[in-house]
Amino acid sequence: MEKRILVTRSSMPEIDEYVEEIREMWDTHWLTNMGPKHKQLESDLADYLGIDKDKITLFVNGHLALECIIEALELGKELNAEGEYKDEVITTPFTFASTTHAIVRKGLKPVFCDIKADDFTIDADKIEKLITDRTCAILPVHVYGNLCDVDKIQEIADKHGLRVIYDAAHAFAVEKNGVSSACFGDAAMYSFHATKVFNTIEGGAVCFKDSVLKIRLNQWKNFGITGLETTEFIGGNAKMNEFAAAMGICNLRHLDDEIAKRERVAKAYMERLGGLKGIQLNAFQEGVKSNYAYFPIVVDETAAGCTRDDIYTALAEQGIRARKYFYPLTSTYQCYAGKFDADKTPIALKISERVLTLPMYADLGLDDVESICDVVVKCVKENR
Ligand SMILES: *Cc1c(COP(=O)(O)O)cnc(C)c1O
Repeated sequence: MEKRILVTRSSMPEIDEYVEEIREMWDTHWLTNMGPKHKQLESDLADYLGIDKDKITLFVNGHLALECIIEALELGKELNAEGEYKDEVITTPFTFASTTHAIVRKGLKPVFCDIKADDFTIDADKIEKLITDRTCAILPVHVYGNLCDVDKIQEIADKHGLRVIYDAAHAFAVEKNGVSSACFGDAAMYSFHATKVFNTIEGGAVCFKDSVLKIRLNQWKNFGITGLETTEFIGGNAKMNEFAAAMGICNLRHLDDEIAKRERVAKAYMERLGGLKGIQLNAFQEGVKSNYAYFPIVVDETAAGCTRDDIYTALAEQGIRARKYFYPLTSTYQCYAGKFDADKTPIALKISERVLTLPMYADLGLDDVESICDVVVKCVKENR
């Protein structure tokens, strides 16, 4: 097997374009601390997303962006009528480690809500019965480029006076009826990690409704320093450096082309795998412009005659790396042993045991898609 196909491949500009972008840094020697590249990327991103420049701020990665927004919104600091801290956050276990870890690392308690079987996002109809007098926020996750039911979630949050923070790591450049995913909830966190649709090598951003947050987030990500000789908060360090910002400036220029190429890959997959017995494809949502971040399939063993793991192994034998993503549920991680009950989110549990994301990136060849589909089809047909 000479050829190997990885599950993802980071987008990069031509080397000359990047060199041109970083050249002036050898004159300025300004390498980090909200320099010119940081400012420009922030402004380019605001334009791209169609939001004000005072409603976005950049971070060193998505995870610390999420932790900072939790701190900046002071979640868990408020007391309820019984004098208890309101420290419960309703969220989903069908996510990456980051979401759950951010909640726990900030001293809050995740309360897991089940997901929908068709688009894998939190089931908004199941949120209300999880709300208690200790709930302070809802932290849903947009999954694979699908958006949560943002309208229903906001309605519930308004009714109960809760904050909404989206983990939008999978949803950069995704829109609903022309409105960017940056605009939903009190805040949305983006990850610009190398494996995401848009990358700054490592990086992230928070977009928010209330522009007052910009100042506060900028302080939180810089040790809580508020003036030359004043430090009012116990902040951390989560600033994006100039090399990362320069990478983002370059990658953003090509993003629409990259997404168009991803769409072509997704359509090729759908052509071959659509209607294949026992293989459920992602349900693209009405009115939502996807970024085609991932291409998940859900394998129903009874109908397909083979399991997700069979397909995973058959692909691996051909040098093709798929990913069991998200698997396992964050609520079943060793570090949370004995704390949560995955049986309370049965759909999330079932999907996590059956889902496989196939290789997906802009430059994935359509001939490679054919080879990948050949393996999947063979697995299903042979075992029936
Ligand atoms: C990638 C990702 C994160 C974390 O982002 P980093 O930039 O890697 O810190 C958080 N949540 C989800 C759902 C992700 O996919």
